[in-house]
Amino acid sequence: MVKIMEVTALDRLREAGIRVTAPRLRIYEFLLNNYTHPTCDDIYRSLSSEDSSLSLASVYNVTEKLEQAGLVRLIVSPDGQKHYDAKTDYHGHFCCKECGRMIDVSCCKDLGLKDLKGARIDSMNLLLSGVCKDCLICAD
Ligand SMILES: [Zn+2]
Ligand SMILES: [Zn+2]
Repeated sequence: MVKIMEVTALDRLREAGIRVTAPRLRIYEFLLNNYTHPTCDDIYRSLSSEDSSLSLASVYNVTEKLEQAGLVRLIVSPDGQKHYDAKTDYHGHFCCKECGRMIDVSCCKDLGLKDLKGARIDSMNLLLSGVCKDCLICAD
């Protein structure tokens, strides 16, 4: 039986030409397993409990490196917080003002923007803000 190999974080780092180090692998793996758009603080809090050698400064360095390599996306929320996302395909985000959650919003490449007819869109940063469904229900 042929087992289809899953593309691992290690393979992706190598493909992107990034020298693999333990913190890089660990942080990238964390982002691939947590599509909740964590900030560097969130990543640090989750990982430092298992690995006391990890510093917040290295989390900042690694996320910046991963972003430059195109492996993760950086999304700056309306309150100025930097969030990281290992889901790099076209999608927008919705930020809830109440609970602070950042939710993926799927949308297609062709947004029907008349002003851009004939142009090629290479990146998109659709950021919506408001109050999510769960928070609206709680407020009732
Ligand atoms: Zn909410
Ligand atoms: Zn996302």
